[in-house]
Amino acid sequence: MLVMMKSHATSGEIEAVCRKIEALGYKAHPIPGSTRTAIGITGNQGPIEAAALESLPGVGECVPVSKPYKLVGRELKEETTVVDLGDGVQIGGKELAIIAGPCAVETAEQTRTVAAAVSAAGARLFRGGAYKPRTSPYSFQGLAEDGLRILADVRRDYGLKIVTEAIDVESLDLVERYADVIQIGARNMQNFSLLKRAGKSQRPVLLKRGISATLDELLMAAEYILAEGNYSVILCERGIRTFTDHTRNTLDLSVIPAAQRLSHLPIIVDPSHGTGRREKVIPLSRAAIAVGADGLMIEVHNDPEEALSDGNQSIEPPEFEQLMREIRQIAPVLGRSVTPAPVRAL
Ligand code: PEP
Ligand code: MN
Repeated sequence: MLVMMKSHATSGEIEAVCRKIEALGYKAHPIPGSTRTAIGITGNQGPIEAAALESLPGVGECVPVSKPYKLVGRELKEETTVVDLGDGVQIGGKELAIIAGPCAVETAEQTRTVAAAVSAAGARLFRGGAYKPRTSPYSFQGLAEDGLRILADVRRDYGLKIVTEAIDVESLDLVERYADVIQIGARNMQNFSLLKRAGKSQRPVLLKRGISATLDELLMAAEYILAEGNYSVILCERGIRTFTDHTRNTLDLSVIPAAQRLSHLPIIVDPSHGTGRREKVIPLSRAAIAVGADGLMIEVHNDPEEALSDGNQSIEPPEFEQLMREIRQIAPVLGRSVTPAPVRAL
């Protein structure tokens, strides 16, 4: 059930309703909207008696939630969530969020070379895995905390916000210390203990769609994070497994408007994993922006042939620059913008 407060309800009245909900043994989730605050209630097994809440001062009405998810839905919050990372970097706002970097942090030199290139092209967020969930146990597994330290240096030296993956509860403890956004990968989309742990974090979470997950399953996975009190979640479409053999995965761009209709959470697209092929990254990036995504996550490597993971789908810095130029032209058609590339000193 949702408690819709009146538009003029005071913060004291909102707090009193939350206290009442907690006294009934449930968890209250006050979510401010542009006109009024809605309070989501979780933790109840059956229906909640509305009368106990409806009579409280400042309460407009109590409405039952028709969807299985309560907190990620537009019923609770009409306007899209904007995840604010500070320094003017947002995900879900007017400006598109472009996250770029290598699949994996391999060495300090490789990471810094890519960081310098993507920041010069106008990216404000940097990706790179320090923990790599690999299909084979014999493949490169990532540099772990040493990799996180390299990423922290990149943040300091290039002013980029860091997005990096946590693969389990232990790595999440470390990732949240070093990163600006915690990535939860496709393989972990239904790792419920990891989702609950991410829900207790103060850091925003980038949640990637599982390779065979439906939209409902993706939204329910996000619900796990919000239910623990972390409302800063960004969804990511990264391709699903189908019978096609011309790509690694099938990038399901139709999920973008579908997710946006149901949920207030921002959603971005990863055309690198979504196609698995370098030459398809720019075309699908254009399409992702055109379909209304809030941003992109792009794998960029300075020497893809030698990359320790996902070289086939990594573009090189000049191609990334081209991608940025193209989406700068497409974005205004959709009422969006892209950070201009910093002016380089002559
Ligand atoms: C990644 O972003 O490098 C990654 C492993 O992605 P996914 O979880 O989508 O496979
Ligand atoms: Mn990768």
